[in-house]
Amino acid sequence: MDKIRYNPGHLWHHETSRPVADKVKYLADVAGEHDCAIRIGVNCGSIDPAHQDRFEGDPVGAMVQSAAEHCEMLDRLGFTRYVVSLKDSDPANVIEGNRRFADERPDVPLHLGVTEAGMPPEGIIKTRIAFEQLVSRGIGDTVRVSLTLPNPKKPEEVTAGHQILTDIANGRFRSVPEFPKDKLNIISCPSCSRVENEKFIELAEDVREMTRYAERHAITIAVMGCRVNGPGETDDADLGLWCGPAFVNLKKGPESLGAYPYDRILARLKTEVDRLIAHRAPAN
Ligand code: SF4
Repeated sequence: MDKIRYNPGHLWHHETSRPVADKVKYLADVAGEHDCAIRIGVNCGSIDPAHQDRFEGDPVGAMVQSAAEHCEMLDRLGFTRYVVSLKDSDPANVIEGNRRFADERPDVPLHLGVTEAGMPPEGIIKTRIAFEQLVSRGIGDTVRVSLTLPNPKKPEEVTAGHQILTDIANGRFRSVPEFPKDKLNIISCPSCSRVENEKFIELAEDVREMTRYAERHAITIAVMGCRVNGPGETDDADLGLWCGPAFVNLKKGPESLGAYPYDRILARLKTEVDRLIAHRAPAN
């Protein structure tokens, strides 16, 4: 069956003068007319400001509540063909969010995934951690493995997903590592049709190579492929890069540090990584 996905955070920002419930009704009507199902796809990194304020300090709670409220809106409309996803780049948040939501709405099918998981093998490890903890408890109906890979290698996402699910079905649990919070963490989006410069994938790989020297420092670097989600979804990283057609935008947390050509961004990023290391306690 065909299915459309909307992100409640993005919907909130679209036509802000219109009540959210009206916008949801519009989507439900269009989906109904075209025999489509709907996925309410909530991302921890793009929660609407209203929920962020209500759940300050509890982004997972904000994600779960946003999803629950959108389910109620569709329920009130009598639209039943919907599923929910609650994603984040941190598998711990994916696990907690999906468990909390499944407790609250066990009747709603869940689509699982770790978004911006990054490149293999780290992206596969993060996804495996989340799926092992959720699928083994009976949580989850469909899955997506999101890896930063060039298009010809995208089938590796499917292969990885099959491998993880086969292992779980056969009781083959790898040791499930706590994903290290005291080490360098590179998160990067899987790329999609919104990417405006194909150099994005190469850039994500180059960032990983260039920052290997900083592996023992608790620094999160986010590399995002587009101007739609990039600006918001890099806010929580220590350093963020989001790609435009000709320039890469560099951020330190929510603060912009400027835009740089693709052939200059790595050197600029290294300067910021070195500054962060110099300002933090020395690694053990
Ligand atoms: S290109 Fe943009 S919309 Fe597409 S996956 Fe990356 S961040 Fe998300």
